[in-house]
Amino acid sequence: MHSIPQSHKEITSLIKSGELTCESLVRQYLDNIHEQEDLNVFISLFDSEAVERAREIDKKLKDGKAGKLAGAVFSVKDVISVKDKLLTCGSKFLSNFESLYNATAVERLLNEDAIIIGKVNCDEFAMGSSNENSYFGHVKNPVDKTRVPGGSSGASAVSVAANMCLMSLGSETGGSIRQPASFCGITGLKATYGRISRFGLVAFASSFDSIGIFGNNNYDIGLALEVISGFDERDSTSSDHKVLNYASESEKNFDPKEIRIGYVKEYFEEGLSDAVRTGINEKLDVLRKKGFTVKEISLPSSKYVIQTYYILTCAEASSNLSRFDGVRYGVRSENSDAVEEMYVNSRSEGFGEEVKRRIMLGTYVLSAGYYDAYYRKGQKARTLIRKDFEKAFNEVDYIISPTTPTTAFKLGEKIEDPLAMYLNDIYTVSANLAGIPAISVPAGQDKDGLPFGLQIMGKKFDEAGLLKMANEIN
Ligand code: GLN
Repeated sequence: MHSIPQSHKEITSLIKSGELTCESLVRQYLDNIHEQEDLNVFISLFDSEAVERAREIDKKLKDGKAGKLAGAVFSVKDVISVKDKLLTCGSKFLSNFESLYNATAVERLLNEDAIIIGKVNCDEFAMGSSNENSYFGHVKNPVDKTRVPGGSSGASAVSVAANMCLMSLGSETGGSIRQPASFCGITGLKATYGRISRFGLVAFASSFDSIGIFGNNNYDIGLALEVISGFDERDSTSSDHKVLNYASESEKNFDPKEIRIGYVKEYFEEGLSDAVRTGINEKLDVLRKKGFTVKEISLPSSKYVIQTYYILTCAEASSNLSRFDGVRYGVRSENSDAVEEMYVNSRSEGFGEEVKRRIMLGTYVLSAGYYDAYYRKGQKARTLIRKDFEKAFNEVDYIISPTTPTTAFKLGEKIEDPLAMYLNDIYTVSANLAGIPAISVPAGQDKDGLPFGLQIMGKKFDEAGLLKMANEIN
């Protein structure tokens, strides 16, 4: 294994001093990828292309014409479009489907001379918390290969944690970046809904979905964020809110006397493991000692978040996934004589179990007889959850919590019990329900050396503040 420097600043300075080139960097990552094939991270690898692009960027660097992400090598979750490359979404349905265009986030990375080294595994259509729902097989956690890396962007987290690239683009609907970041001991950011264009991200639940970033440190995440953020005319929900220089913002200091931090009473009740509880409390103590105001707050609607999240996202998914019919995209069933039979068979053969479960649940909660009882009620609960946050952010500037109730669980441990799996998302789904930004930063390890993260949630569009606060933690 090559021990490649894990920050963009270090990489850039080695390139400047002539000790490293982009080409040798990419080759080292490729070696690391090949040496760790058993982790099952990549669905497609752009090896020769990445090397070639690295050479071009080396030339640009020599000529002083390189963009601000020169030397940054990314992996991309396989629900995000990279032109002319497979876009499988971890599904049999799309196992032969190639994207016709770049996602806006990808396009913006490339414009600043980032290198994309390949597309990585994930739960099918980003539905899952363990990366065990992929048609391409499960992914292993590099810290302990008998454990899950988290999901759905599990392989994105592993690619960064196992030094196969510097950063990764993932996606979130309910915690799919923060939870794997927590399980793999790295940093993961989900920005405010609308901060990053969703154009080119395959839709799961459109009012929740967002693209986000995995990295080893807050500065790198800030750098990628400032490149991919901003209005995009191809996504009407993208925001024209000002894009800041998040990387340099992340290095500024707070005056602790001016900042109030809340920890959520309801999050420290049952279900939270002792190791994580102790670790988060220790971090809160550190912040108190630095002079921050740290106080208990309440989010009374916390008890509804899992139900609300699963009702609403399944409803949206059942509608979004109706486009997969065997006609327009991907694999078509060969065992049908009539058109309707072809739709049914293609969907029956193409989707995995968890995706089918959610489509059925979503169709049920949207059906005429149950719409009011489930979907409409879910919308009302979402409003209550949002209001809880609005109220909380009148009292405090940031909310700190565990990212996950436990450290990484064993492969196979929860796959037969969807409810136990869904409960993993208890601290993360709220930020997606409310549309606010949230970050998970490494916060410690349990007695077996398994990492866990600390989550910081902030006000809409306060990504700069989140990154600054993250620096206070690690
Ligand atoms: N684990 C959650 C789910 O299965 C979150 C998924 C996501 O954020 N894409 O829905």
